[in-house]
Amino acid sequence: MTTSDNHIFQKSNPLITMLPKVRGRYTEYVDMSPFTWFRVGGLAEVVFRPADAEDLSIFLENNNERVPVTVIGATSNLLIRDGGIPGVVIKLGKPFSDIVLLEETLRIGSAVLNSQAAKVALNAKRGGLEFLSGIPGTIGGGLRMNAGSYGTEFKDVLIEAEVIDPGGRLHVIAADELGMGYRCCEIDEGWIFLSALFKAPFSESIDIKFKMETIQRQREKSQPIKEKTGGSTFANPTGYKAWKLIDAAGCRGKHFGAAKVSEKHCNFLINTGDAKANDLETLGELVRKQVLDTSGIQLKWEIRRIGTVKKDISSWSGERK
Ligand SMILES: Cc1cc2nc3c(=O)[nH]c(=O)nc-3n(C[C@H](O)[C@H](O)[C@H](O)COP(=O)(O)OP(=O)(O)OC[C@H]3O[C@@H](n4cnc5c(N)ncnc54)[C@H](O)[C@@H]3O)c2cc1C
Repeated sequence: MTTSDNHIFQKSNPLITMLPKVRGRYTEYVDMSPFTWFRVGGLAEVVFRPADAEDLSIFLENNNERVPVTVIGATSNLLIRDGGIPGVVIKLGKPFSDIVLLEETLRIGSAVLNSQAAKVALNAKRGGLEFLSGIPGTIGGGLRMNAGSYGTEFKDVLIEAEVIDPGGRLHVIAADELGMGYRCCEIDEGWIFLSALFKAPFSESIDIKFKMETIQRQREKSQPIKEKTGGSTFANPTGYKAWKLIDAAGCRGKHFGAAKVSEKHCNFLINTGDAKANDLETLGELVRKQVLDTSGIQLKWEIRRIGTVKKDISSWSGERK
């Protein structure tokens, strides 16, 4: 998009002027592709970075679900489509990045990267959170996905989470009330995690470090972690491994344009160059079809696909009075 196009959009699209007054920052027409793990995706109509939890609450209360809202973390589990994301994309930043060391527990803000949380836990000699070092992304995204690696998931170490509902009301919800299962959490999509309290008993640094190093070594060996990817593309169907089904269907190395099924781990799609989101999604659908044809099993996307395929400016600017 050229600067002059951008100017025309800004004139014709009054969304930012219709949004609630906040202390945080609104930015219009943000190109998402440089920030996503896949390095693809269109524009976000408006990105909102709240100043703090109160600011976010005021925004949600006054927005009153009028403008669609999408929250993102580090985008390591997202395929943002080429047409972009209409409405407001909420990105939690520094004000949601506190880590508080408590007796045998850690309270961690949603914007904290898992790897950072794991490092702080190591330095404070707190065990149980080593698995975080193996999962890219933020605490907020990890809670939503009930992310897990090497035998531990968020739900195993979570005590409670602080969440804000679409009306701007704060809730503290115990772990067993969040309905966390395999790569999912039953809490409504519109609710936003702000922070969480985790079990973190004292442990010997040497043991924590050993576990983290083992995880790192295993990841390097088995995952294309240096590629532009979104992690596991499909969830494992009950009783099966998605990668085995994909391999058996002959899809290892399959490509569509610059989108490719990783040779190293065939449940990972990679962008080998200038792939579009549409190339990656099309390839994913081709893999699903081939797996269905060969095994009778319908794979389900674990990666979340958000946004529109084609940009429809009229729907972006329309009828939000
Ligand atoms: C190389 C690689 C390896 C990976 N390995 C693993 C692995 O071993 N195990 C695993 O489980 N996953 C893995 N993943 C996937 C991904 O890292 C996890 O799903 C991670 O938890 C996503 O966090 P994120 O912050 O990037 O969330 P995003 O990708 O930005 O968002 C994911 C979902 O979370 C929601 N979300 C984000 N923040 C919030 C919030 N504050 N409140 C409410 N909802 C929110 C979004 O709306 C979206 O629906 C891997 C990904 C990559 C690229």
